[in-house]
Amino acid sequence: MSLSVGIVGMPNVGKSSLFKALTRKEVDCANYPFCTIDPNVGVVRVPDERLELLAKMSNSARIIPAAIEFIDIAGLVKGAHKGEGLGNQFLSHIREADAIAHIVRVFADKDVAHVSGRVDPRSDIETINLELIFSDLAIIEKRIEAIESERKKEKEAEARLSVYKKIREGLEKGILANALGLTNEEKALVKDLNLLTLKEVLYVFNVDEEKLSEKDYTAERLLAEFGLRDILGDNECLLISAKLESELAELPEEEARDFLKEMGIKESGLDKLIRASYKRLGLATFFTTGPKETRAWTILRGMKAPQAAGRVHSDFERGFISARVIYWKDLIEAGGEAKAKERGMIRLEGRDYVVRDGDVCEFLFNI
Ligand code: GDP
Repeated sequence: MSLSVGIVGMPNVGKSSLFKALTRKEVDCANYPFCTIDPNVGVVRVPDERLELLAKMSNSARIIPAAIEFIDIAGLVKGAHKGEGLGNQFLSHIREADAIAHIVRVFADKDVAHVSGRVDPRSDIETINLELIFSDLAIIEKRIEAIESERKKEKEAEARLSVYKKIREGLEKGILANALGLTNEEKALVKDLNLLTLKEVLYVFNVDEEKLSEKDYTAERLLAEFGLRDILGDNECLLISAKLESELAELPEEEARDFLKEMGIKESGLDKLIRASYKRLGLATFFTTGPKETRAWTILRGMKAPQAAGRVHSDFERGFISARVIYWKDLIEAGGEAKAKERGMIRLEGRDYVVRDGDVCEFLFNI
């Protein structure tokens, strides 16, 4: 499963502040097999209001949310691909992440030094992207050389070579591999390279906190103001105030909610960030619910019922017979499982059923 997001960005843009605030939302690791204990890794809960509604309906004793990992990756400086600063160590950490949250400084604060002397989101983004590009180029070139030196090339090697060259050409023009429109087959051929520039990127603009309550200060406006549209491509972006998030993280949940309301802000930036990351990773959620617990299970979008069942228990996948499925909203509207059953609203689905985000499932299996 793809579950980790690496936080990258220039020094002094607010990465550590955000990461620290995120770790306030850490889950109890006992319930998550993928949990790693590392000071630079935070396993945080994915906010999901559907969980509370289902738990209330089922009178569940506990709720277990979905979770993803954020990795705090130490600051990048120009020349990292040549070993400057933490250099290659930094780049190898990003390689381990499944997606990237690129934090970009927009806040002014003259008391916080800016590495290049002024707030310049475009130049910051280009600096980071160039490091990623150089690092990937080195990898791609090595592979191209290796294949070209083979005397007799296998058919698959030819196919690989052609994707490598396509990527090299893009990178040389400054285009990230994720913006080249590669097909799934092409992506599969280069998967083993773990290219940094092929990872999904979420651009997170760290703005002055006052900006967040200005209704007309939208991402669109920010992109126009700093001339960023063309370099972001199809990647998603969101606005956040790391300073505000650090302050909110210190408050009890209730107070934090009231504080946001007063500022006229609907959802905390961290919650938005976690949710958007979950989506970027290609993840979806199905639920199980009962008196013991209501739980969110993470699957890759497009996963079929037996693999989804395997998330709960490997026996469920091996001995999969069928799944009883109802969409969460229908279940709530019916007023519980018994009533939904009476009305014939619970469907019986087989092996080919593609689980939908928001399904409530019960698996039937035989081993
Ligand atoms: P990192 O180097 O990217 O990890 O940045 P830090 O999170 O350590 O932040 C660098 C400095 O900027 C610290 O003094 C923070 O308090 C300050 N800072 C971070 N985010 C904000 C923000 O949104 N607004 C303001 N005014 N200062 C911030």
